[in-house]
Amino acid sequence: MNIHEYQSREMLQTFGIPVPPGILVQNPVAAEKAFDELQKRYGSAVCVVKAQVHAGGRGKGGGVKLVKSAEEARKAANDILSKPLITPQTPPEGVPVTKLLVAAGVEIEKEYYLAITVDRVTACPVLIASSEGGMDIEEVAKTNPEAIIREPISAVAGLRAYQARKIAYFLGFKGKQVRMAGKIMHQLADLFLKNDANLAEINPLVVTKATDEHPDGTVIALDAKLNFDENAMFRQDDVRSFEDPTEEEPAERRAKQFGLSYIKLDGNIGCLVNGAGLAMSTMDIIKLHGGEPANFLDVGGSASEEAVTEAFRIILGDETVKGILVNIFGGIAKCDTIAKAIITAAKEVGFKVPLVVRLEGTNVEIARKLLEEAKGDIPMMEIGKDLTDAAKKITAHIAA
Ligand code: GDP
Ligand code: MG
Repeated sequence: MNIHEYQSREMLQTFGIPVPPGILVQNPVAAEKAFDELQKRYGSAVCVVKAQVHAGGRGKGGGVKLVKSAEEARKAANDILSKPLITPQTPPEGVPVTKLLVAAGVEIEKEYYLAITVDRVTACPVLIASSEGGMDIEEVAKTNPEAIIREPISAVAGLRAYQARKIAYFLGFKGKQVRMAGKIMHQLADLFLKNDANLAEINPLVVTKATDEHPDGTVIALDAKLNFDENAMFRQDDVRSFEDPTEEEPAERRAKQFGLSYIKLDGNIGCLVNGAGLAMSTMDIIKLHGGEPANFLDVGGSASEEAVTEAFRIILGDETVKGILVNIFGGIAKCDTIAKAIITAAKEVGFKVPLVVRLEGTNVEIARKLLEEAKGDIPMMEIGKDLTDAAKKITAHIAA
């Protein structure tokens, strides 16, 4: 689960990480006022107007603008709100922007990258940091991997003091910066572990320009991206309160309401499967026979007829779908439930694209009989003898 930057900043602050003050606005006039307010309260001569969407890379897409007056803030807000934001992380047509953060601007001496995520190889959290912050960390990993440090974190003991020091020196922090940066690393590790995060990323973490008061500058977070483990949301009420359904793919949102795990993909063969593992292997076998799956869809073990019918509605509502492969191994899920859902979906929505069904397991005989009887109403339907046969049939339809 992703949350917005302004919400991430709020969480960072709760854990003690310094963040410049900001005001959330929804229109250009409010942005103008926010600039005045930040100038009056904090003496900010410069502010940043930032699009609040669940995608990163906003700076590159014109979604982050530095402004020097209230007038400029209004213009920047108008500009960002008036068109979809396209960044390397959005769909090609971009995403609509309805909220902006007007944040006090900071004079940057240097930008750093600091993140904690889960290392799937060692199965434990890992802190990743680099002095090459601000830009794509993926690019740094490719072209200059020595500039990145990776440090495993104990899920029980958290980040150790010696680790924080080691990282701070690796990044080249000096004087008072070492302590400030170390403290932020501890706070970020704390946030990550206590909230069941998958990713806690600060990019950029910056050292501000030196002043008389702070000759070493200060270390402060300018941007934050947090992502949380959906499976842990039952015990994370605070995090869940940040959920913004308008940022999710509408089909994925509907699927979630029915307890379906659905992820939209780029291909044209819709898949309806029970079990995540079986769904993965179904996608593999489609690819093996030269097809491309249009989605991942796991209806779950104990799916109701209603939920499966909804699953068909979601797949059939996707215009890119040119064929559907149903692959059910009835264990707890019963084949006749799926067969009934196919018949209901055929009545309610209608199959305008070829449908290949492979059923095996609990109540398969009843299911076969139901489908046999309904065949006249569903001329687009074919039965696959086994998974390979079903995959061959559906990919042949697409290729034809
Ligand atoms: P992202 O592109 O979505 O990651 O958005 P960021 O919040 O990271 O902003 C992108 C870039 O804008 C940063 O890497 C900075 O270089 C710049 N930026 C953001 N906030 C400030 C600020 O307060 N002052 C200055 N000078 N630059 C900023
Ligand atoms: Mg950033």
